[in-house]
Amino acid sequence: MRAEDGQAILTLNAGSSSLKIGLFSAALGVMATGLVDRIGGEGSLVLRADDGTALTLPEGMRTDFADHDGALATVLRALEALFPGLGIAAVGHRVVHGGPDHHGPIVIEGDALARLAALEPFAPLHQPHNLAGIRAAISAFPAAVQVACFDTAFHRSHPFVNDTFALPRAFYEKGVRRYGFHGLSYEFISGALARDWPALAQGRVIVAHLGNGASMCALRDGRSVASTMGFSALDGLPMGTRCGQLDPGVVLYLMAQEGMDAAAIEDLLYRRSGLLGMSGLSNDMRTLEASDTEAAREAIDYFVFRIQRELGGLAAALRGLDGVVFCGGIGENSRTIRARVAEGMGWLGVHVDPARNAANGPVISPEGAPVTVLAIPTDEEIVIARATAALAAHRERLEA
Ligand code: ADP
Repeated sequence: MRAEDGQAILTLNAGSSSLKIGLFSAALGVMATGLVDRIGGEGSLVLRADDGTALTLPEGMRTDFADHDGALATVLRALEALFPGLGIAAVGHRVVHGGPDHHGPIVIEGDALARLAALEPFAPLHQPHNLAGIRAAISAFPAAVQVACFDTAFHRSHPFVNDTFALPRAFYEKGVRRYGFHGLSYEFISGALARDWPALAQGRVIVAHLGNGASMCALRDGRSVASTMGFSALDGLPMGTRCGQLDPGVVLYLMAQEGMDAAAIEDLLYRRSGLLGMSGLSNDMRTLEASDTEAAREAIDYFVFRIQRELGGLAAALRGLDGVVFCGGIGENSRTIRARVAEGMGWLGVHVDPARNAANGPVISPEGAPVTVLAIPTDEEIVIARATAALAAHRERLEA
């Protein structure tokens, strides 16, 4: 697929040492996807065509993976060689935190970058890297429209009881709230439901985004009313290396009795807990499913049990349940986890048909079941690309 000159859209998802990219035509067809890994170390770049086949990088091409600027310049050199005449009209960025005020994507202009930088204390592990990606893109594509798409924005529709903690009100005013994350994934699923299951989309649906990071979201009429993640991306379900829901008393104990400071606790809760910490083996669900150790089995048991608990809690928030959607690497691929979650949830109307589940869906509940259960591949990149194209077109109309 070719882009008309100057019309392509680039999406960037910048992590601490990685950069995921998507290249889309003006009509939002995928031209390429890519991943830069190990920025700051022995970096590498893999680009793939729209059908998933690896694209061969130009021989002898200069690469630089020292930082995000170098990585983006490397991506740009590769894209220009592979797509001659390519022009980037707009760049869309995944930004983890939009704070209390951003209900949707924004064009980065004026003091927007400074306002997003002020949110860094809320997401110190992600926000600085996201903003590094934006700064790198501004210097690489000074004429392109830059758009920020927030993981929190989709959840800003939460009612107060799902937006707050029972702390003194002053903390809420300072921004200590239940933001919720994975919003771009939930927005994609909400859109897919509206397109392919319109009746269900108007009902009460719980989406389980089960990847290395995992959360669940309650949708009513396509809008988020509650989520398992809260102030940070630590709360709710156990994840690859994150703990999920934790009694705050544990943190006090770690500080007072174990002498751990904020950095040590952060490392424990973000990088050494979850499936990895419980199993002592791996953060990767495939490895745990293939293992016969007791600890791996218990880690999976805990993961499944917490999903079931949250299903009950979110169904209460929705006052009932019409649909469940599984997505994310585990949700889209692991029949075992989907089947195990459904086991024992029949009282809520959740049933999984073994043959449909084995075929990976999209519908995996039996015909006529009270709750429609689906497995749908999510696509955060296309959500960013759509929002970026829409805001860039709006900008063009304003300037015309
Ligand atoms: P991220 O949150 O980093 O985007 P993904 O959505 O790619 O992560 O999900 C990664 C998780 O999905 C890993 O735990 C991986 O083991 C799991 N996964 C991928 N394929 C399968 C599979 N076929 N069966 C079980 N788990 C799988």
